[in-house]
Amino acid sequence: MTPLPFPMGMQSQPATKPTGLWATFVRWVDTDHIPEGADVLRAAQDKVDWPRCIPFAILHLGCLAVIWVGWSPAAVWTAVALYFIRMLAITGVYHRYFSHKTYSTSRFFQFIMALWGAAAVQRGALWWAYNHRHHHQHSDEPDDKHSPVQHGFWWAHIGWITSKRNFPTDYSKVPDLAKYPELVFLNRFDVLVPAIFGAACYGFGAWLGHIGVATSGWQMLVWGFFISTTVLFHGTACINSMAHVWGKRRFNTEDDSRNSWILTFITLGEGWHNNHHRYQATTRQGFYWWEFDPTYYFLRALSWTGLIWGLKSVPESIYAEAQALRTEKAAELK
Ligand SMILES: [Zn+2]
Ligand SMILES: [Zn+2]
Repeated sequence: MTPLPFPMGMQSQPATKPTGLWATFVRWVDTDHIPEGADVLRAAQDKVDWPRCIPFAILHLGCLAVIWVGWSPAAVWTAVALYFIRMLAITGVYHRYFSHKTYSTSRFFQFIMALWGAAAVQRGALWWAYNHRHHHQHSDEPDDKHSPVQHGFWWAHIGWITSKRNFPTDYSKVPDLAKYPELVFLNRFDVLVPAIFGAACYGFGAWLGHIGVATSGWQMLVWGFFISTTVLFHGTACINSMAHVWGKRRFNTEDDSRNSWILTFITLGEGWHNNHHRYQATTRQGFYWWEFDPTYYFLRALSWTGLIWGLKSVPESIYAEAQALRTEKAAELK
């Protein structure tokens, strides 16, 4: 593979850089700081990288601070709103744009969308897209990083992201995204936007408290950042752990992907996972009007503003295939 031109010298690390445990701590901030080489990490066996996972553990433990800060309608509703706003960023931006390019946008709005996605605290757009494309290439095969069929529920849900070998981004696998230095920057320093977002949650709560609303900076930080983000992570992870186990299969794909309306409500339209595995290039995952797909409705509305365009539809051949399979199943039941 031809090496990609990385502005800012992101791939080259001086030999004097610290390695081992210290390097792991540096990676909390600079995810591309891999003195031993990303290939070495990726080639290793799956093993939980405990020091690297401390920030992820803190995200979960931070929820317990609710014991001290309590709750208020303002804080709870903000947490709910931030869950849905950021779920849309994961589904509509990280998944349907960066991973599958199911619509087009300008370079400027692409950057705005990358910022929005980064606020969901699921690492950078390039890391997300790289891992997701890998999932589609190896769905439910031994190489699939998060197949519940191969590795069990917990590994597919949360284990795989704690593994040392899954932390580095393979930029050569996402060349269409890695050619943008601004996206590589956000991906490399993937803690930056979450840190600003957390501070903004605190500031928002403090301001509300100041103008007389019953909440505070600490309470908003716990609800808006820690609780909302933790639930958002697990909501998203349900697709990895359950969408290949729960639900019905419309298409005879080579993997075990399924369609589930329950997962659709949790993930704003991503539950139509069997549809998606059959045909990834479309912006919509609910292929029929009765398959609720809020992410698609949102993206369609966004396209009316001119900020995004070229939404891709489901080809007639796919509908014909679905119809043929329906007829086949009906005949079998007779
Ligand atoms: Zn996908
Ligand atoms: Zn899948």
